[in-house]
Amino acid sequence: MPVVRNTPAAEIRRIFELQKNATRRMRLTTAADRIRRLRALRDAIEARTPELYEAMQADFRKSAREVDLTEILPAISEINDAIKHLKRWMAPRKVGTPLPLFGASSEVVYEPRGVVLIISPWNYPFHLAAVPLVAALAAGNTVIMKPSEFTPRTSGFIRQIVADVFPEDEAAVVEGDHTVSQELTALPFDHIFFTGSTAVGKIIMAAASKHLSTVTLELGGKSPAVVREDADMDLTATRILWGKGVNAGQTCVAPDYLLVPADRRQEFIDHFSKKLSDFYGPTPEARRQSPDLCRIVNARHFQRLQDLLNDALKRGARVAAGGNTDASENYIEPTLLVDVPLDAKIMQEEIFGPVLPVLSYGNINEALDLINSRDKPLALYVFSTNRDEADYVIQHTSAGGTVINDVMVHLANPSLPFGGVNHSGHGNYHGEFGFRALSHERAVLRQPKRSAISLMYPPYTNFVRTMARLTKRFLV
Ligand code: NAD
Repeated sequence: MPVVRNTPAAEIRRIFELQKNATRRMRLTTAADRIRRLRALRDAIEARTPELYEAMQADFRKSAREVDLTEILPAISEINDAIKHLKRWMAPRKVGTPLPLFGASSEVVYEPRGVVLIISPWNYPFHLAAVPLVAALAAGNTVIMKPSEFTPRTSGFIRQIVADVFPEDEAAVVEGDHTVSQELTALPFDHIFFTGSTAVGKIIMAAASKHLSTVTLELGGKSPAVVREDADMDLTATRILWGKGVNAGQTCVAPDYLLVPADRRQEFIDHFSKKLSDFYGPTPEARRQSPDLCRIVNARHFQRLQDLLNDALKRGARVAAGGNTDASENYIEPTLLVDVPLDAKIMQEEIFGPVLPVLSYGNINEALDLINSRDKPLALYVFSTNRDEADYVIQHTSAGGTVINDVMVHLANPSLPFGGVNHSGHGNYHGEFGFRALSHERAVLRQPKRSAISLMYPPYTNFVRTMARLTKRFLV
């Protein structure tokens, strides 16, 4: 396994200075200029897709089809959306002007933030580096990226593709571990776009505060799925398994735990077990050999998940489906756990793997109380055949995003903002939301030669006093 070389600090500072000097030039780029850059990126991704398949197979045995669906498709779809709409996004937005400023005109101008830092995680190592890059380029920024060191082949692929498509003063990739991130976040970036864990998100926000850099924090947490009393259980189990099976559950918006009415728990388990066999093979051995189940990214994360499982079992939980693991290849079968006590570690921290605790409830408000006693999740899923029942859950909770009767697919719609709330993140992106997150909304007011305000200049005579009184009364 290749190890990522840490980019030296002097090299990082050199690239930062180069990019800082380019920001004035980048401010002047038109929609056509930016679209040219985005097209060049898209062409390179399409031409070099086989290299990405290879890199991700080497990093964590991710199947080519999942690479297509969850890495390349989101990047290409963001590029296409930006190409289609960029001219409109960039256009200054005319806004109204109140009567006391009669004669003036006002608009909101979207200017680039400047030099943007993108730090990304290992779980969708290409997708989560490429999609923020698209937003940053669309908004006219220069960009330094630092992909995760845990997927070294994909990190190398990103470095090469960016170096081939962009001059270094527009976009560049530096590589390495958290010490490289620390070198980076010590610099006065105009904006830091971070995707990763909540714990590291806090470190990033503290570092950003030194320079008052703005931040977008795309974090994690425990995303619940609530099954209502009237849910279609076959559909629920199918979609929950898909959410836990894709990328082996190593997805920020994977369902983390399930809340199901006590009297329908067994029905859920039965459907889930059947689907497990349909999706990945009828026996534990067939599933272990399925090319469609990728591995846990490394031995450290495998051990973390194994510890969560062991701790839950020790405290009285039971395996209701799956449960097989193989340390020699970091393999964990999609697994259901029942009778999990709330003080088990698996109910305290984000699972980020293919294990799903199934909790049962008697009354829906018990389930909602449990959710509301915890940090606000990145995603919350509801399964119900009745719109009012689903809306009840939405109205009584807070979450970054919600899907009714499915999981994770909200992030495939660039017309929806993607992001968390408080502990699961600050800010959002995708489509126009990404463009806005990486732009500064600048207020521009054009004042004519004769302005209404000049009637109220000093000295403050009785006339000015009367004008002020009339304005207060009738014009604002
Ligand atoms: P992580 O926070 O450990 O690492 C993310 C990035 O931060 C990596 O590039 C890493 O090198 C860097 N980093 C690590 N320690 C650092 C430190 N002390 N200072 C500065 N930088 C540091 O996260 P991960 O394990 O790569 O990814 C998993 C986490 O990311 C999960 O919590 C998951 O929910 C979250 N995630 C969120 C989203 C989202 O869109 N909201 C998407 C994917 C993953």
